[in-house]
Amino acid sequence: MASSFSSFFSRDKTFRKPKKFEQGTTKYNLHKQANASLQSGIDLRSVVKKPPDHDLQDWIAVHVVEFFNRINLIYGTVCEYCTKETCPKMSGGPKYEYQWCDGVDYKKPTALPAQKYTSLLMDWVDAQINNEDIFPVSIEVPFPKTFLPTAKKILTRLFRVFVHVYIHHFDTLVSIGAEAHVNTCYKHYYYFVTEFNLVDRKELEPLKDMTERLCR
Ligand code: ZN
Repeated sequence: MASSFSSFFSRDKTFRKPKKFEQGTTKYNLHKQANASLQSGIDLRSVVKKPPDHDLQDWIAVHVVEFFNRINLIYGTVCEYCTKETCPKMSGGPKYEYQWCDGVDYKKPTALPAQKYTSLLMDWVDAQINNEDIFPVSIEVPFPKTFLPTAKKILTRLFRVFVHVYIHHFDTLVSIGAEAHVNTCYKHYYYFVTEFNLVDRKELEPLKDMTERLCR
């Protein structure tokens, strides 16, 4: 399973460069642990629980980065099928539409094609997790007060990529054999954000039915 995973999530399909942790640091070891848990087929509901000797914010930080990297790869597998023509809006079916607003270039919520929206979203997440004032690199530097709200916002926004990919590009996932891997990643994400209450239930609504089937 691991080999087919890496072959269809090949490097050239990467939508954004994955963030790497420095080797030898505590954060790096946690990252490896989170990564291994995704591929081993073990009980995802239990692996999201924080080991007692770990700091909660550190635990959240490594998962945020891990989910960013994985969701980025998932979108990379469908992005060539996600064009202005196929997906003129960032939507999850007719009921849900997302508008981009970053307070800088897009001061008001703005409707954008899904690929443009996702590109801005990934750039924004990339900037947050590489901002050492929010995600401190050294374990000696404490997490700032802005960390948790930012982590929640990142996870909330990343969920929208799952929504779009599942609802609009599910056939592509099936045809390239990625469905099982995406489901595993989704389950891991879902168990994690609900374990620590990081995303509003309301935000999770668009995939509610699928989640009930997948994550019960
Ligand atoms: Zn699309």
